[in-house]
Amino acid sequence: MNIALIAHDHKKDDLVAFAVAYKSIFEEHNLFATGTTGLRIMEATGLSIERFKSGPLGGDQEIGSLIAKNQMDIIFFFRDPLTAQPHEPDVTALVRLCDVYSIPLATNMGTAEMLIRGLKEGLLEWRELRKSKNGENNG
Ligand code: PGA
Repeated sequence: MNIALIAHDHKKDDLVAFAVAYKSIFEEHNLFATGTTGLRIMEATGLSIERFKSGPLGGDQEIGSLIAKNQMDIIFFFRDPLTAQPHEPDVTALVRLCDVYSIPLATNMGTAEMLIRGLKEGLLEWRELRKSKNGENNG
């Protein structure tokens, strides 16, 4: 599975802790992240992550374009609901694309726990079926 990891600044510690806790699951998948989030997680876990630009510099949009191309399977996006973001339109667009393409999205730790356990139990295999049915470049 292709998994994207994104966290706003005040949520980065949470996502790093989450990645440390579930490293054994994450290391079985292809990981992608926005710039700073990816660096923090790599430093803490040693996981291999393909990093895009920082979120405010276009990283959210880069991940969004992969969602539109049916190349992202799961998104962990720990948003900060209490701080205004300079790239709020990009944040909204990313969440919107997840809804357009029915991509599993966790925006907080509670949902993330369920999603990662579902991944471990094989409950997200439908993503692989959908990709093989529709082809990599269709929704
Ligand atoms: P960052 O971007 O990982 O580069 O901080 C995340 C964001 O703010 O969208």
